[in-house]
Amino acid sequence: MKALVPVKRVIDYNVKPRVKADGSGVDLANVKMSMNPFDEIAVEEAIRLKESGAVSEIVAVSIGPAKAAETLRTALAMGADSAVLVETDDEVEPLAVAKILKAVAAEVEPGLIILGKQAIDDDSNQTGQMLAALMELPQGTFASKVEMDGDHVKVTREVDGGLETVRLSTPAIITTDLRLNEPRYASLPNIMKAKKKPLETKTATDYGVDIAPRLKTLKVSEPPVRQAGVKVADVDELVAKLKAMGVA
Ligand code: AMP
Repeated sequence: MKALVPVKRVIDYNVKPRVKADGSGVDLANVKMSMNPFDEIAVEEAIRLKESGAVSEIVAVSIGPAKAAETLRTALAMGADSAVLVETDDEVEPLAVAKILKAVAAEVEPGLIILGKQAIDDDSNQTGQMLAALMELPQGTFASKVEMDGDHVKVTREVDGGLETVRLSTPAIITTDLRLNEPRYASLPNIMKAKKKPLETKTATDYGVDIAPRLKTLKVSEPPVRQAGVKVADVDELVAKLKAMGVA
């Protein structure tokens, strides 16, 4: 069984985003970019499934600019076997990403597609669900545990009230939550080996997908600056203040 792992190149999670002066978006000039953290978890899970013998081959795919090839090389250095870059300089919305992934999956024929639960740049949390709908496949989103069960997969999901376990027939779609695993670092020898692994470059047109945006960003602005807090001497003062505010 093959695993397909979509990985997105995003602003590094340690970087404090700056909004462009004209409010048209986030300034990405000279900003460190990295693999979306949830996608690192997805790559790690696919590798663990390969190490356990459940998965035979891992294909990583990214839709983005030429530099997204670096993100794919990271996935290859971690342990993916091959990669597909669907190159575009345009911003691609989740629905278009899902349509491209559906077309890639038609070629790869994976038993599992493991995505991140959300990309930390747009925070959409949509692509996995849209892909499941387009492909008419079962989905286990926000996975904190993944176990193979014959030709099924058991996914423990982090839901509001606690944990829910679903058993899906394969092929299936999984999206990763933070507690699923701790991704490994690529070792230097593996980084060197990754340079020789196959990386194919395609375009959205190759897959017949129209990536024209359906959404229009009206304005991007900084969140309001947080007001400074007040230190209270003791519980009595705290309760008095809460009462004065009408909270207690
Ligand atoms: P989103 O719905 O944008 O929050 O993204 C959820 C997940 O979809 C990400 O964690 C990735 O696994 C995948 N994904 C979204 N955009 C892309 C992209 N441009 N290239 C590859 N994978 C993507």
